[in-house]
Amino acid sequence: MTPSNPTPDPAGSFPSGASNFIREIILDDLKTNKFGGRVHTRFPPEPNGYLHIGHAKSICLNFGLAAEFGGKTNLRFDDTNPSKEETEYVDSIMETVKWLGFDWEDRLFYASDYFGQLYEWAVQLIRSGKAYVCDLTAEEIRQYRGTLTEPGTESPYRNRPVEENLDLFARMKAGEFPDGSRTLRAKIDMASANLNLRDPVMYRILHAEHHRTGNEWCIYPMYDFAHGQSDSIEKITHSICTLEFEDHRPLYDWYVEQLGIYHPQQIEFDRLNLTYTLLSKRKLLTLVEYGHVRGWDDPRMPTLAGIKRRGFTPEAIRNFCGAIGVSKTTGVIELGLLEHHVREDLNKRAARVMAVLRPLRLVIDNYPEDLVEEMEAVNNPEDATMGTRRVPFSRVLYIERDDFREDPPKQYYRLSPGREVRLRYGYFVTCTGVVKDERTGEVTEIHCTYDPATKGGNAPPDGRKVKSTIHWLSAAHAVDAEVRLYENLFTRENPSETKEGENFTVNLNPHSLEILSGCKVEPSLAGAAPASRYQFERLGYFCVDPDSAPGKLVFNRTLALRDTWAKIEKRGAK
Ligand code: ATP
Ligand code: MG
Repeated sequence: MTPSNPTPDPAGSFPSGASNFIREIILDDLKTNKFGGRVHTRFPPEPNGYLHIGHAKSICLNFGLAAEFGGKTNLRFDDTNPSKEETEYVDSIMETVKWLGFDWEDRLFYASDYFGQLYEWAVQLIRSGKAYVCDLTAEEIRQYRGTLTEPGTESPYRNRPVEENLDLFARMKAGEFPDGSRTLRAKIDMASANLNLRDPVMYRILHAEHHRTGNEWCIYPMYDFAHGQSDSIEKITHSICTLEFEDHRPLYDWYVEQLGIYHPQQIEFDRLNLTYTLLSKRKLLTLVEYGHVRGWDDPRMPTLAGIKRRGFTPEAIRNFCGAIGVSKTTGVIELGLLEHHVREDLNKRAARVMAVLRPLRLVIDNYPEDLVEEMEAVNNPEDATMGTRRVPFSRVLYIERDDFREDPPKQYYRLSPGREVRLRYGYFVTCTGVVKDERTGEVTEIHCTYDPATKGGNAPPDGRKVKSTIHWLSAAHAVDAEVRLYENLFTRENPSETKEGENFTVNLNPHSLEILSGCKVEPSLAGAAPASRYQFERLGYFCVDPDSAPGKLVFNRTLALRDTWAKIEKRGAK
């Protein structure tokens, strides 16, 4: 067990307390023995993009609830749409669910596995007069559909004889017709108040290669014809989905009832929205394709791959998902709440180390030239079991450029000429002078004296106090690093909000990424493995980026510390 990455909590510990009406429904069903005491859920992503933090809510709900009741959860790829789906997405989705701490065991399924069964069910509906082949174009179908206030118009093909429908559907499957020329539609009710019941399309012709079935099929089931029956095939008890599918439930129910097959219970909950964050795979794809970010796993992305690279922990995400609960109305959660859970978790597990992002040389004139002392530093004040480490101290140090002001403003207590401060775990030092660049006037080096009676940063016998403690590194021992600082990807709370004719990308924050090279870190970090997490004293939480290589350390700032730094900076600037 390394200090920075302790064994995660067992997944499935889905914190209770927050409102979870779905749990109540399950408890009720267990009481009435509705599903014979079974709880079987599924997480059904469409493999058309990377998972995002919104999906985490659904994953935690489905796996968390099943685990709580000793049930099972399937992972099912809803891969009915051949043109948008890719194996890259399938792989990343599996990796992400595992990373979050959940296990589908041997229950990995694909809706495409059911294409044969779905086809047979479509034929069954044709035979019972409940489905027909329609020659209207997509545009015509839309026009015939009517509106919320006006009923639709029946298709002229609606009353085709069963035999003709069977023949045409078989020929659709055999590839006789071009894309878009015909569809198979359910014969329900063109006057229904629910538009989803106005003879919805069940199958469309698409001569496209599928990532799993190749060219076996040139007709593909619509999501609505596949989803409910897939749940039925897998004997799902509680089919948990987001609120926008509430209006589709009557259609799913209609299909399973007409087919006379097992009937799962669909339950809808509110989709997660976060301030300053976009949670739509389509828009996230735009960011990737147009190079606004460095890829799906860019640490600024709300994808779980991005969040992981940024240094967020699965435990923090699970705690967040538990804390927000579920409801029947969609709202917007503060991004700060997610960050709060990340800080809370990292505070417990991340080892403290010292790093200097913008180094300024500090020379201690009265410290022996060749002396190197090993100073003892605490790894985590929150967790004594994480122990201590030794940090080399010598005559020439680096401190943070920001921790020195030649002309200190009021309330600035850090280093300035004549002022004494504590070097954490080091000594008290007093600034005696500065060296400047003759041309620019910039301070390039500061000179100090130290008090040998303050070793370890402890107060001297005379009880003298200092108002500030700053961090430092021994210049000869420090290791070079690149550090990437992040801000919100968008400047607006609601990134979709734009003036007419503008695209959401106008709300991108031009300062969302700042790359600092020439940073210095403690020698203990040399060779740190990617994903190792640390708290850089006074600077925030950081993790090693996979761009690191032998001799090249790259860190991401996961989050700043609880805003105190920003406050001090603001005050210092006055
Ligand atoms: P997007 O709109 O981002 O493309 P989606 O709903 O199309 O998302 P799916 O792959 O179909 O993505 O989603 C898989 C599961 O995750 C579904 O059950 C869906 O309801 C759920 N889900 C998707 N986005 C969210 C969200 N923001 N909050 C909660 N659950 C979500
Ligand atoms: Mg979808």
